[in-house]
Amino acid sequence: MKFSWKNLLLWSLPIIVISFFIWQGLFAPVTNSNNNNIANSRMTYGRFLEYIDMGWVKKVDLYENGHTAIIEAVGPELGNRIQKIRVELPITAPELITKLKNQGIDLDAHPIKNNTAIWNLIGNLFFPLLLITSLTLLFRRSNNTTSGPGQAMSFGKSKALFQVEAKTGVIFDDVAGIDEAKEEFEEIVTFLKKPEYFTAVGAKIPKGVLLIGPPGTGKTLLAKAIAGEANVPFFSISGSEFVEMFVGVGASRVRDLFKKAKENAPCIIFIDEIDAVGRQRGTGIGGGNDEREQTLNQLLTEMDGFEGNTGIIVIAATNRADILDSALLRPGRFDRQVNVDIPDFKGRLAILNVHTRNKKIDPKVSLSIIARRTPGFSGADLANLLNEAAILTARERKNQITLKEIDQAIDRIIAGMEGTALIDSKSKRLIAYHEVGHAMIGTLLKNHENVQKVTLIPRGQAKGLTWFTPSEDQSLISRSQIKARIMGALGGRVTEQIVFGESEITTGAGNDLQQVTSMARQMVTRFGMSNIGPLSLENEDSNPFLGRGMGNTNEYSDEIAIKIDQQIQDIVEECYHNTVKIIKSNRIIIDKLVDILIEKETIDGEEFRTIVKHYTEIPEKV
Ligand code: ADP
Ligand code: MG
Ligand code: ZN
Repeated sequence: MKFSWKNLLLWSLPIIVISFFIWQGLFAPVTNSNNNNIANSRMTYGRFLEYIDMGWVKKVDLYENGHTAIIEAVGPELGNRIQKIRVELPITAPELITKLKNQGIDLDAHPIKNNTAIWNLIGNLFFPLLLITSLTLLFRRSNNTTSGPGQAMSFGKSKALFQVEAKTGVIFDDVAGIDEAKEEFEEIVTFLKKPEYFTAVGAKIPKGVLLIGPPGTGKTLLAKAIAGEANVPFFSISGSEFVEMFVGVGASRVRDLFKKAKENAPCIIFIDEIDAVGRQRGTGIGGGNDEREQTLNQLLTEMDGFEGNTGIIVIAATNRADILDSALLRPGRFDRQVNVDIPDFKGRLAILNVHTRNKKIDPKVSLSIIARRTPGFSGADLANLLNEAAILTARERKNQITLKEIDQAIDRIIAGMEGTALIDSKSKRLIAYHEVGHAMIGTLLKNHENVQKVTLIPRGQAKGLTWFTPSEDQSLISRSQIKARIMGALGGRVTEQIVFGESEITTGAGNDLQQVTSMARQMVTRFGMSNIGPLSLENEDSNPFLGRGMGNTNEYSDEIAIKIDQQIQDIVEECYHNTVKIIKSNRIIIDKLVDILIEKETIDGEEFRTIVKHYTEIPEKV
């Protein structure tokens, strides 16, 4: 029989009508009630983030290209049973995906629009559509056509393998605090916009740029900004997406990606987490990963294959440049490397400025105070911080973000969710002594950072907390500063011991002791701050393929190993004795402070120092 569209319609029409009724009768009531259920409960994005933090979200399904999510969550407000809730997401929420991954929440993306009306329609048309599609396919195959609609389909297929943004909408002004990296990239924008400037004098345009830096420092943002500034499309894929279960998929994705990019040149190809494919070949425990190597080989071949002047620039990002295959770093591939670091004070201030542009902030809030309180925060942390503060503000029905909410958000990001304070009990007293112990040492040592506040309100894992004002310059730390920190960390345990006795000490100091040991060990093995002399005996992170400290092939003899242990013990012992001395001779103040702390639950730094000053002298901090 010969196929023709007329024939097809003639035959399929009655079938469509019949199946429509069958579908309606059998399934429609069920789908309807389900959808109503979903449509009825909604949640704001902010609330959703809080739900994630509280571990109440069980499953997330993304719809409409990630604009909408249907989540399954349990929570006290939901009557403690699993409910489906609809959440509208902001246009891009990369942090969200990481957050979900970190919490191990089941995540799935669905390409179909999840709109109640559309769902019903799709539901109703499902069988007929299926029928038409299969008939059409049959028809197409028998005719063996490859042009026209066939191409549209294959484009759809490859779109699923990597993301394309025709316009990223990000500009350099959205990126702050990483000026050197930005300068480097301004030139690349010129490459893309006016390649003739360079080709005229015979210059080759670089093919690849490697962005190296810790997570959240703005690598993806920067790559998007280049595409945005040069007004070229942005093709992106993540290294971890390359490495699939199915053999050969990774390599074919690379091929596809470059093919599409060449058709759309000039453009940017962005490969995130390139370390997932670009690790050194032939290493790792349990033999190499063939699939990964094939993918990497394909990537190298593709990069060699296109001429430098085609207008494609490959930007890759990683936080582990040290483990990349050396072939990737050879000239003609990623021969430019740009470091993107955690921002310093000025950088943080600039980033805060960018992210407060679209937020209502109390004019009294000084961004430089926030920047000062947040050393070590990445750009993403700062963006998150302001968002958290905005959520807190909205929850309190205020119309401006004040310093209070920002402070709360900082605490929350550093130490986790706030819990409720313990009721008066023996353990509350013990915790109070422990914290006051830390704070007392911190206050009385001239090399220790100042106390910012002491609190008995639990956060995250901690039952109580002593906050210190971080000093800006964390890069050079003196020996006496480290010792002061060791003593400060010991302060909690020592106070427990002195006040409650040897048999009453608790596990609460576990974390403190871990820090003490690590600081003392580093003094001996990394910084040459012991009797062993100025030797570097251990690296911070010597073997990237094994866990920290696991694959340490000791570069020192057993004899030295014994000495190291001895030195560590000596340092800790000395600090311990000094701590005991300070705590014992200030017992009266400590008792006093504990009473106040138990009553008020939080004492801020100024107040703490004022009380201490009544009894003893506080040294000027250095
Ligand atoms: P990375 O790719 O380095 O892990 P991203 O570029 O994905 O980090 O950053 C995540 C988010 O954090 C960005 O979308 C942006 O909101 C914010 N951010 C990070 N770094 C900066 C920066 N330097 N300037 C402005 N915003 C930043
Ligand atoms: Mg990124
Ligand atoms: Zn402690």
